[in-house]
Amino acid sequence: MATRYVSQSEDEPELEYSSSSFDEGQEDISEKGVEPYRYEPNTSEQSALEEESEGIERDLDNRLTNTKWCLCALCQVMPTTEESQCCQEISKAKITGFNEVLQCITDHPGFLSVCLDPYVLETAYYQYRQQYDQHMEDSNERRRYVAYRQFVRWCWGFMGKEVRVPLPACAVNKIRQAFPSDTYTGFKWPN
Ligand SMILES: [Zn+2]
Ligand SMILES: [Zn+2]
Repeated sequence: MATRYVSQSEDEPELEYSSSSFDEGQEDISEKGVEPYRYEPNTSEQSALEEESEGIERDLDNRLTNTKWCLCALCQVMPTTEESQCCQEISKAKITGFNEVLQCITDHPGFLSVCLDPYVLETAYYQYRQQYDQHMEDSNERRRYVAYRQFVRWCWGFMGKEVRVPLPACAVNKIRQAFPSDTYTGFKWPN
């Protein structure tokens, strides 16, 4: 901040005129130096912020045709904007070591254990079946469905029923590779 004040007073002397609006005497102004500017809105910073948020919206619109939004290098183009999320964007997850060390959450050993191990998925399915009294045929579709649920539990722990979180495209793709089908539907929570 100090350097900015210096550069303002040196490079933009016309800014000193605005200090007269504070109705202070000339002596006070020179004593306080650049202090009056503290109360001036910093228009250049504001416009920069606006541009930044517009840029994010533009980016969201463009997600359907590319993976420029992916920071982990393992996401793919997805059919909807909602699904076009990178693990690095949703990484407020409670996973120790993720983000600082790992490029992608699917590189985490926990991902393999929790989301791709068919024995774990089968066991998790029985828990789901008991809890919701819903039956699903033994299939890759069931394994994917349970794996998505497992992923959410693993990343966010307990969540309220109404809470929805985006699944990162890289994790969805890994789960689909492990348990392929002819057709895929996006992850849906039970009602
Ligand atoms: Zn990614
Ligand atoms: Zn990733």
